[in-house]
Amino acid sequence: MPPRAQPERLERHVSADFAVIGAGFAGLSAARRLAQLNPGAKIAVLEASRVAEGPAGRNSGFMIDLPHDLSSDNYSGSGQNDLQQIRLNRTGIDFARSAAEEYAMDREIFDPSGKINAAASESGHKHNQDFAEHLEKMDEPSELLDADAMKAVTGSGYFRSGLYTPHTVMLQPAAYIRSMADGLRPVIDLYENSPVVKIRRELNSWKLKTNMGSVAALKVILAVNGHAESFGFFRRRLMHVFTYASMTHAMTGEQVRALGGQSSWAVTPADPMGVTVRRISGSSGNRIVVRSRFSYNPSMEVTDGYLKNVARVHRKKFLDRFPMLSDTGMEYCWGGHLCLSWNNVPAFGEIEEGVYSACCQNGLGTARGTLSGLAAAELCSGVRTETVSTLQSEPEPRRLPPEPIAFLGANALLRWKEWRAGAE
Ligand SMILES: Cc1cc2nc3c(=O)[nH]c(=O)nc-3n(C[C@H](O)[C@H](O)[C@H](O)COP(=O)(O)OP(=O)(O)OC[C@H]3O[C@@H](n4cnc5c(N)ncnc54)[C@H](O)[C@@H]3O)c2cc1C
Repeated sequence: MPPRAQPERLERHVSADFAVIGAGFAGLSAARRLAQLNPGAKIAVLEASRVAEGPAGRNSGFMIDLPHDLSSDNYSGSGQNDLQQIRLNRTGIDFARSAAEEYAMDREIFDPSGKINAAASESGHKHNQDFAEHLEKMDEPSELLDADAMKAVTGSGYFRSGLYTPHTVMLQPAAYIRSMADGLRPVIDLYENSPVVKIRRELNSWKLKTNMGSVAALKVILAVNGHAESFGFFRRRLMHVFTYASMTHAMTGEQVRALGGQSSWAVTPADPMGVTVRRISGSSGNRIVVRSRFSYNPSMEVTDGYLKNVARVHRKKFLDRFPMLSDTGMEYCWGGHLCLSWNNVPAFGEIEEGVYSACCQNGLGTARGTLSGLAAAELCSGVRTETVSTLQSEPEPRRLPPEPIAFLGANALLRWKEWRAGAE
């Protein structure tokens, strides 16, 4: 994306009715819902980095409506719970859709195209069949694609079958987040490069300190995903997991012809621990994005060495699928911080008087981050919706085992599950 104008940093003391910490899916959705429910209120949004330069702008862009439990074998859980998950995910997606309409986002940014669960092996194909049956029982549409149909879509002969489901929205996430921030500018004060380093109660308001300024706010929404723990909340209850992606250079006309298939498509793996692949085409050219690998990093950091290793794995997985693109190099490889809980629940609700959490999106932050942001805004505006009650009725994130047991156990489990996912 093109560079942006210099950001405004918080370099003085300001006061606000509401302060939102974090400008990802959760933070910007919270700010938008606050503005809708409290016209004329002063809303300050503080972002540690630049808008769209964290995971919110640098993910694979699958805004998925169906159950997507990364710890399951084939995404399906129990019927009743899955119906509730679908309802919640779609509430988040509908809110994002209304933002896309209000801020005139085009189809390159917000594309309700659906997605395909691709299977490369017999066991992946079986996962797809099981998932299709599960969806049918819930009256959810899906379409099984054979190997030829998969090749016609992706250009790759790698896939044994696919399961198309129509209601996932594919985002250009950086453009979506930037458009949200720009669209909200008339009704919020957005401060970038302004990490909140301290928060404390002062009389009847909360004082948020940044390195060069501060905000006094009556109510605060914490929308920092796993960094809720950096503020002292949900200690030892949040799992700091990284996932990684690589994106090719823009392909030449010859490479595009060699690949064949459709100009844009989106594929999740039949086994949740497999590889996500996406073809994009538009203003930044024709590219392929692969996402794979998970690592548990309670330090919330990964090393360059690890990233180099991941880049090699991505290259191999790319070539397995697209041998005709052996001369197409990767332009970028990066990792990003996800936040999961052991029992797959959000860290949601009023956590201190006047402080509301919209954190822990369990890997589906495009839909669930949007949802938890909008619900936190409703809760803190005193609006009781079904979404708020449902999120409030979820249990707390379960406490993790002590270190180093959690670190060793989680990474061993991830490696084993990735090995088991095999060709997927
Ligand atoms: C490679 C990759 C691919 C992914 N693919 C998908 C996908 O296809 N679909 C999907 O749904 N999800 C995907 N995800 C996950 C998704 O990106 C996250 O779940 C989502 O961004 C979470 O949204 P959020 O708003 O809760 O948190 P974040 O996007 O993490 O936003 C939190 C913001 O808070 C800011 N912050 C933190 N601390 C402070 C502080 N002290 N002061 C001020 N600001 C602070 C951060 O800078 C950040 O911008 C992917 C992630 C990665 C890394």
